[in-house]
Amino acid sequence: MATRYIPTIGLEVHVQLKTRSKMFCACPVEYGAEPNSHTCPVCLGYPGALPVMNEAALRMTALTGLMLDCKVAEICKFDRKNYFYPDMPKNFQISQYDQPICDGGGVPLHDLAYPKDAQKSIVNPGKVVKLVRIHLEEDVAKSSHFETSTGIDFNRAGTPLMEIVSEPDIDSPEEAFAYLTALQQILVYGGVSDADMEKGQMRCDCNVSVRPEGTSELGTKIEIKNMNTISGVRRALAFEIERQIEVVSAGGTLAQETRRWDDASGRTNLMRIKESAHDYRYFPEPDLLPVDTRVFMDEVRKLRPELPAEKRERFVTSFGVTDYDASVLAADRALADYFEEAAKTVAKPKLLANWVLNDVLSALSEAGETIAECKVSAAQLGELLAVIEAGTINARQGKEVFVEMFATGKSAAAIVEEKGLKQESDLGAIEALCQKCIDANPKAVEEYRAGKTASINFLKGQVMKLSQGKANPAIVGDLLARLLG
Ligand SMILES: [Zn+2]
Repeated sequence: MATRYIPTIGLEVHVQLKTRSKMFCACPVEYGAEPNSHTCPVCLGYPGALPVMNEAALRMTALTGLMLDCKVAEICKFDRKNYFYPDMPKNFQISQYDQPICDGGGVPLHDLAYPKDAQKSIVNPGKVVKLVRIHLEEDVAKSSHFETSTGIDFNRAGTPLMEIVSEPDIDSPEEAFAYLTALQQILVYGGVSDADMEKGQMRCDCNVSVRPEGTSELGTKIEIKNMNTISGVRRALAFEIERQIEVVSAGGTLAQETRRWDDASGRTNLMRIKESAHDYRYFPEPDLLPVDTRVFMDEVRKLRPELPAEKRERFVTSFGVTDYDASVLAADRALADYFEEAAKTVAKPKLLANWVLNDVLSALSEAGETIAECKVSAAQLGELLAVIEAGTINARQGKEVFVEMFATGKSAAAIVEEKGLKQESDLGAIEALCQKCIDANPKAVEEYRAGKTASINFLKGQVMKLSQGKANPAIVGDLLARLLG
């Protein structure tokens, strides 16, 4: 029988923090600014320029540690990582070596974080992917390669970068996808980063190896550098695992190498072979003192938000929405906030969840808008549902009103008034309509009286039609039953 191979995956995720200024100077952090417009002697690496620590970046990293259940070190320090690279003119990067700010921790995976096509076949539901550490460093400048030249933009140089290192604890490309999705959600919840991979605010290096089932020694580790989409990570890992299995099962050996993912061809290609482990000659950064995090941890603890998993649970217990609906709502903090704001005024939050997840989301996706751009505010949606719950309009009319609200931003009350949509609840008027239908449909009446109770639905439909959809269906049903009694 052919040997089965087990993949082992570890991810290193770089996250740009959402601070106003850079890590060691006062230059602003601004995505998309004119190249080299936000620079100074510190971030350009001039000799003799001295770094000054950005406390907000330290606090945000500590907050990330709290959210991911890490141990936040009481004392951490910065070190110089020495190497040469054209986009790093001072020839070292300030990073953290043996005393990082956060140790351990984990990222809890949830069903909806997996790719859609894999949600029905999750191998290890509720898994928490263990972390090694989180440390803080400065980003390097950004190189852009043109046909005959290379440009370097130093706006990115020195921006605060958090590196989140997982244990080799991920078992499949689908789990890697779920890990990145769940991590991204938590980072956005905490407001520490927008974690937009397209903008390079979150970047990922993957380490992957395969070993024969039943053995414990890990196979040769291969690194895939600089991934910038979550679906790309899944595809790159799937390709790489397949490639490694092919080599190993044919009796070949793998070299420890760094590879690059080519999204267009769907393959990884060799970048460089690692002949020996890098020796970065780390030593403590002499221009910065160690940091005592105890000075600010009390304040940071107050900033810890309710996390996606906690929100899901609360939505189920306090609003009675289904697990699934709660998961979809909690996956996006802005959507969850919208739901919760609207829920303040409605009697049936479960019904509200249906409206948000069906009507609101599909209208938004059709319009190509985000929840933040939605013309129907949470309060307005709450009003619409209140109008339906009060019986002023029926559910069908409600849908009509919503479409108009979404297009114009007007309130439900204004549209109901304008369109004369008020549901008819006047007993006398409805009774007259019912009698009219009974007189006009003797056959259905006869059938009903002969015991075919479903015939009443036909009559009900006729009354609704006659009222142009305005009659209160519950009242129509009651009156018909009485009149036919
Ligand atoms: Zn600067």
